[in-house]
Amino acid sequence: MIPQNLHMHSTWDDGKSTVEEMILASRAAGLASVGVSVHCPMPFENDWECPMERLPAYRAEVRALAAKYKGSIDVYLGIEWDVSAQTLDLSAYDYVIGSVHELPVDGHRSVDANAETMARYLAECFDGDADAAAEMYFAEFDKVAAQPEADIVGHFDLLTKFDEQRGFFNENSPRYRHAAGRAMEKLVKAGKIFEVNTGAISRGYRTTPYPSAQWLCLLRELDGRVTVSADAHHKSGVTCAFDLAERMVREAGFTEIWILEGKEFVPVSI
Ligand SMILES: [Zn+2]
Ligand SMILES: [Zn+2]
Repeated sequence: MIPQNLHMHSTWDDGKSTVEEMILASRAAGLASVGVSVHCPMPFENDWECPMERLPAYRAEVRALAAKYKGSIDVYLGIEWDVSAQTLDLSAYDYVIGSVHELPVDGHRSVDANAETMARYLAECFDGDADAAAEMYFAEFDKVAAQPEADIVGHFDLLTKFDEQRGFFNENSPRYRHAAGRAMEKLVKAGKIFEVNTGAISRGYRTTPYPSAQWLCLLRELDGRVTVSADAHHKSGVTCAFDLAERMVREAGFTEIWILEGKEFVPVSI
């Protein structure tokens, strides 16, 4: 069984449950430890970040709850950093998830919003050339590779979030494969751990986690490291589809996942 989930949101950002509700749901689901990974402040208006001025209070609440539940579940203080984030001190957190949520074209175009916006951006900004969007998206991961504080690569192929509904991207096109493969190699070389993220399943967008099976297999070939996370935005999703994620990780050839223990990541057999 997967013993830990390091990717969850709360009412400090765009999550729907409080940190305490998320911790209690995680404990009830049998997890031995959890991490709260608040969305970092962004330099543009959005409805999902935790503003800079609220981060100290966020950290204080997570630390207080960690003390309150010590002995029954370990609680880590994390942050989901975005490559376009405002400048902030990441050393204040136990661990950092490094994510790409936007395409840096005509300002910032979210790949995380909905199928309609994805269709519009591909038409407006890329003349319908989905491979060009994929090339731009995966190139953004150079910034995660170069971020020394980033431990985990967030939802590697998030841009395919709506592909079960609309089929925007062809993961087997040579340009897509080259862009994603190059990004993955760079991230592995930089020592980053990839999360197998079930968040789009709990929210009804997908039936499988990110990264998809073919990228998990490449990650295995590259001798990369994986963890499993829920990207939960509600207490009902704290271990959503963990059995499926674990099965996919095993089928890709992995025999262990990496979890945070104290100050470092350690492997556990699966
Ligand atoms: Zn994210
Ligand atoms: Zn997230």
